[in-house]
Amino acid sequence: MTERSSAECLVAENLARIQEEIHSACTAAGRSEDAVRLLAVTKTVDPERINAAIHLGVRQIGENRVQEFMQKKDDLDLADTQVHLIGHLQTNKVRQIVGNVQMIQSVDSLRLAQAISRRSEELSVVTPILVEVNIGGEAAKSGIEPENLERLLCEIAPLPGIQVRGLMTVPPILHKEEEKRKIFSKMYHLFVDIREKKLDNIDMQELSMGMSGDYREAILEGSTMVRIGSALFGERHY
Ligand SMILES: *Cc1c(COP(=O)(O)O)cnc(C)c1O
Repeated sequence: MTERSSAECLVAENLARIQEEIHSACTAAGRSEDAVRLLAVTKTVDPERINAAIHLGVRQIGENRVQEFMQKKDDLDLADTQVHLIGHLQTNKVRQIVGNVQMIQSVDSLRLAQAISRRSEELSVVTPILVEVNIGGEAAKSGIEPENLERLLCEIAPLPGIQVRGLMTVPPILHKEEEKRKIFSKMYHLFVDIREKKLDNIDMQELSMGMSGDYREAILEGSTMVRIGSALFGERHY
């Protein structure tokens, strides 16, 4: 065994703390620990540190930008690791990314879903997706408005090249614990309402919410996947 690099030590320490916190939030919520998966958010993080996380057992990573991921991917040890695209996706980048990631979490329009479906069909694959919801109704944010979610789901459900697996959200930045919980709870109820409708071809199993500053609250309110960047890899340098 070689000695761990300092990058690896830092990631190892952070990962242990995050896993402990996930465990504690699951216990507090009366949820089983395997009900919540950790997605390591790797935007701006170099391949060495990403590989350190992978070697420590991280099985899901999330990238925001198609170009950045395509530049890094050959240097990553992805044999046992799934890649999720979590950033806003332009339709002109769909061609490049479909087939190179295991899930696209940021689908928020029919046009984008159609483009992903078409490209998936060309490659004879089915791409799992999440629909991104703008739960805070913020003007500058991507995501479908909650009131238009069901209609969008019904429109994209029949597309043959995609499979809807759930919802994703990036809520507004809030500081008080009860405010954070309230917005995650609103998202969870939207998720459950849709799930109970049992729409054809819509498989509501994943609720991707919670980041470095609020994953505890997200887990308490029903998140199934937390997306964590800076708490794992340190502050980002753009
Ligand atoms: C950057 C990013 C994250 C992680 O943010 P941190 O606060 O660093 O944990 C999660 N989700 C999305 C969509 C992001 O862009």
